[in-house]
Amino acid sequence: MANHRRIKNIVLFCVFTVFLFPSIPPLLFAEEAVSAPAYQQKIYFPKTRQQLTVHFISGLEKGPTLLVFGGIHGDERAGYLTAGRFTHVKIKNGSLILAPRLNAAAIKKGTRQGLGGDMNRLFDLPEKTRHRNPDTKVVDLSKSLIQRADYVINLHQAYDFYADRWISRQRNPSKWGQSNVIDTPTYTLRNGDKLEPGRFAQKVARRSNDRIKNRDYQFLVNNTETSGQKSRHMEQRGSLTYYALTKQHKIALAIEATKNCSLPEAIAFLTIAVNAALEEAGIQSDNLPSEDFLMISREIKEGNSKPKI
Ligand SMILES: [Zn+2]
Repeated sequence: MANHRRIKNIVLFCVFTVFLFPSIPPLLFAEEAVSAPAYQQKIYFPKTRQQLTVHFISGLEKGPTLLVFGGIHGDERAGYLTAGRFTHVKIKNGSLILAPRLNAAAIKKGTRQGLGGDMNRLFDLPEKTRHRNPDTKVVDLSKSLIQRADYVINLHQAYDFYADRWISRQRNPSKWGQSNVIDTPTYTLRNGDKLEPGRFAQKVARRSNDRIKNRDYQFLVNNTETSGQKSRHMEQRGSLTYYALTKQHKIALAIEATKNCSLPEAIAFLTIAVNAALEEAGIQSDNLPSEDFLMISREIKEGNSKPKI
């Protein structure tokens, strides 16, 4: 009974407060909206081989949302280690969503493929058969995250260096390293509006290259012209970025660091690229991860005893 009375008194107090000070509840609500958690993490598919964590970081001011995936291929360490370095970032405006270890089973094995094959070829599986692939749930999660984003970045790593013409066996159009990969420079929507991943990729490359002194490691834009009839890369029609661009109309880039350097250097290149993408998207932060590979080497060594990245 005493509890009942106490609850009744609290309810009465609230009703009178609202009646006497009608401006208080909206103020309380407004404050709650402003001080909403700037960081949240969610664990998906717990206690399975596909368990993965997604980090949601938001600033207090409005702005675009940038989504970063790492580890869609489990043998590209720089990709998932770089994405993991952004989980402690605080941003002033907009949002940052991070899925650093998308293909957990592949990462654990250290192989390109996880449970259901090459995950970066599963984004266009036919409706009738897709449920048979064990990675479909991870692909569907990725698709739902893409829905929340304005810009999508998928981090990778590959041997050698992309070039738009044949220079050498190590540096030619069939290679991927040190490139910002786009499916097409301009994508025209049905209503006539245009998306320009090419422009974004060029600007990100320019910002990145301002910080990369060694010209051999500077980024180029690699246009796979994925939907073209004579495309050299039709396999990319099943990729995450092609899905993001053509089905959800997002600016999407795959960023590839070379494997022809040390791991800390590759992480430094990808960190530079993500930092550049954040800047280009207009998302501001005071504590972006260091781009110095010596610092990154130290982080990795410390990480052996205490996981930091
Ligand atoms: Zn890859």
